[in-house]
Amino acid sequence: MLKLFVHIYLVFVNMKLKLLNYNKIVQLENFPAMSKKCLRCKEPIFGRIDKRFCSDYCRNQYHNSLKSSESMYFRRVNYILRRNRRILLESFHEGQELVCYQNLLNRGFDYTYITNYHINDNGSASYYCYDIGYTYFSYQKIHLLKRDIESNLME
Ligand SMILES: [Zn+2]
Repeated sequence: MLKLFVHIYLVFVNMKLKLLNYNKIVQLENFPAMSKKCLRCKEPIFGRIDKRFCSDYCRNQYHNSLKSSESMYFRRVNYILRRNRRILLESFHEGQELVCYQNLLNRGFDYTYITNYHINDNGSASYYCYDIGYTYFSYQKIHLLKRDIESNLME
């Protein structure tokens, strides 16, 4: 009787040890890789060493937000370029070919945004926002230029 009891006890202990071992393995597999954090939510990442996100949700959210900040950047640049063109065009419509550098600044012109530039034969540069541009005439004045869009498309 005692033998049977000891046997049952040993079987039980054995089972418990196996279970402990199993838990250890499971814990190791799920142990977060050293300093590996989800790129989006910064939670520790479990599993494969090359994982960058904790879940499909985080991966999708991350890529969506990248796409949206990219498109926000493009929208902002396009807005500045179109505003620049409009300001140059307004000056043109006012019949001015020579305008003050500062005057354009006051109207919101941003000299750091152009679509292209052209080096003239005399070595000076013309800067364009689409079809309307300018060259530096003097320290304070710029000379407005307008290109023929259709002849440009033919080039
Ligand atoms: Zn995450």
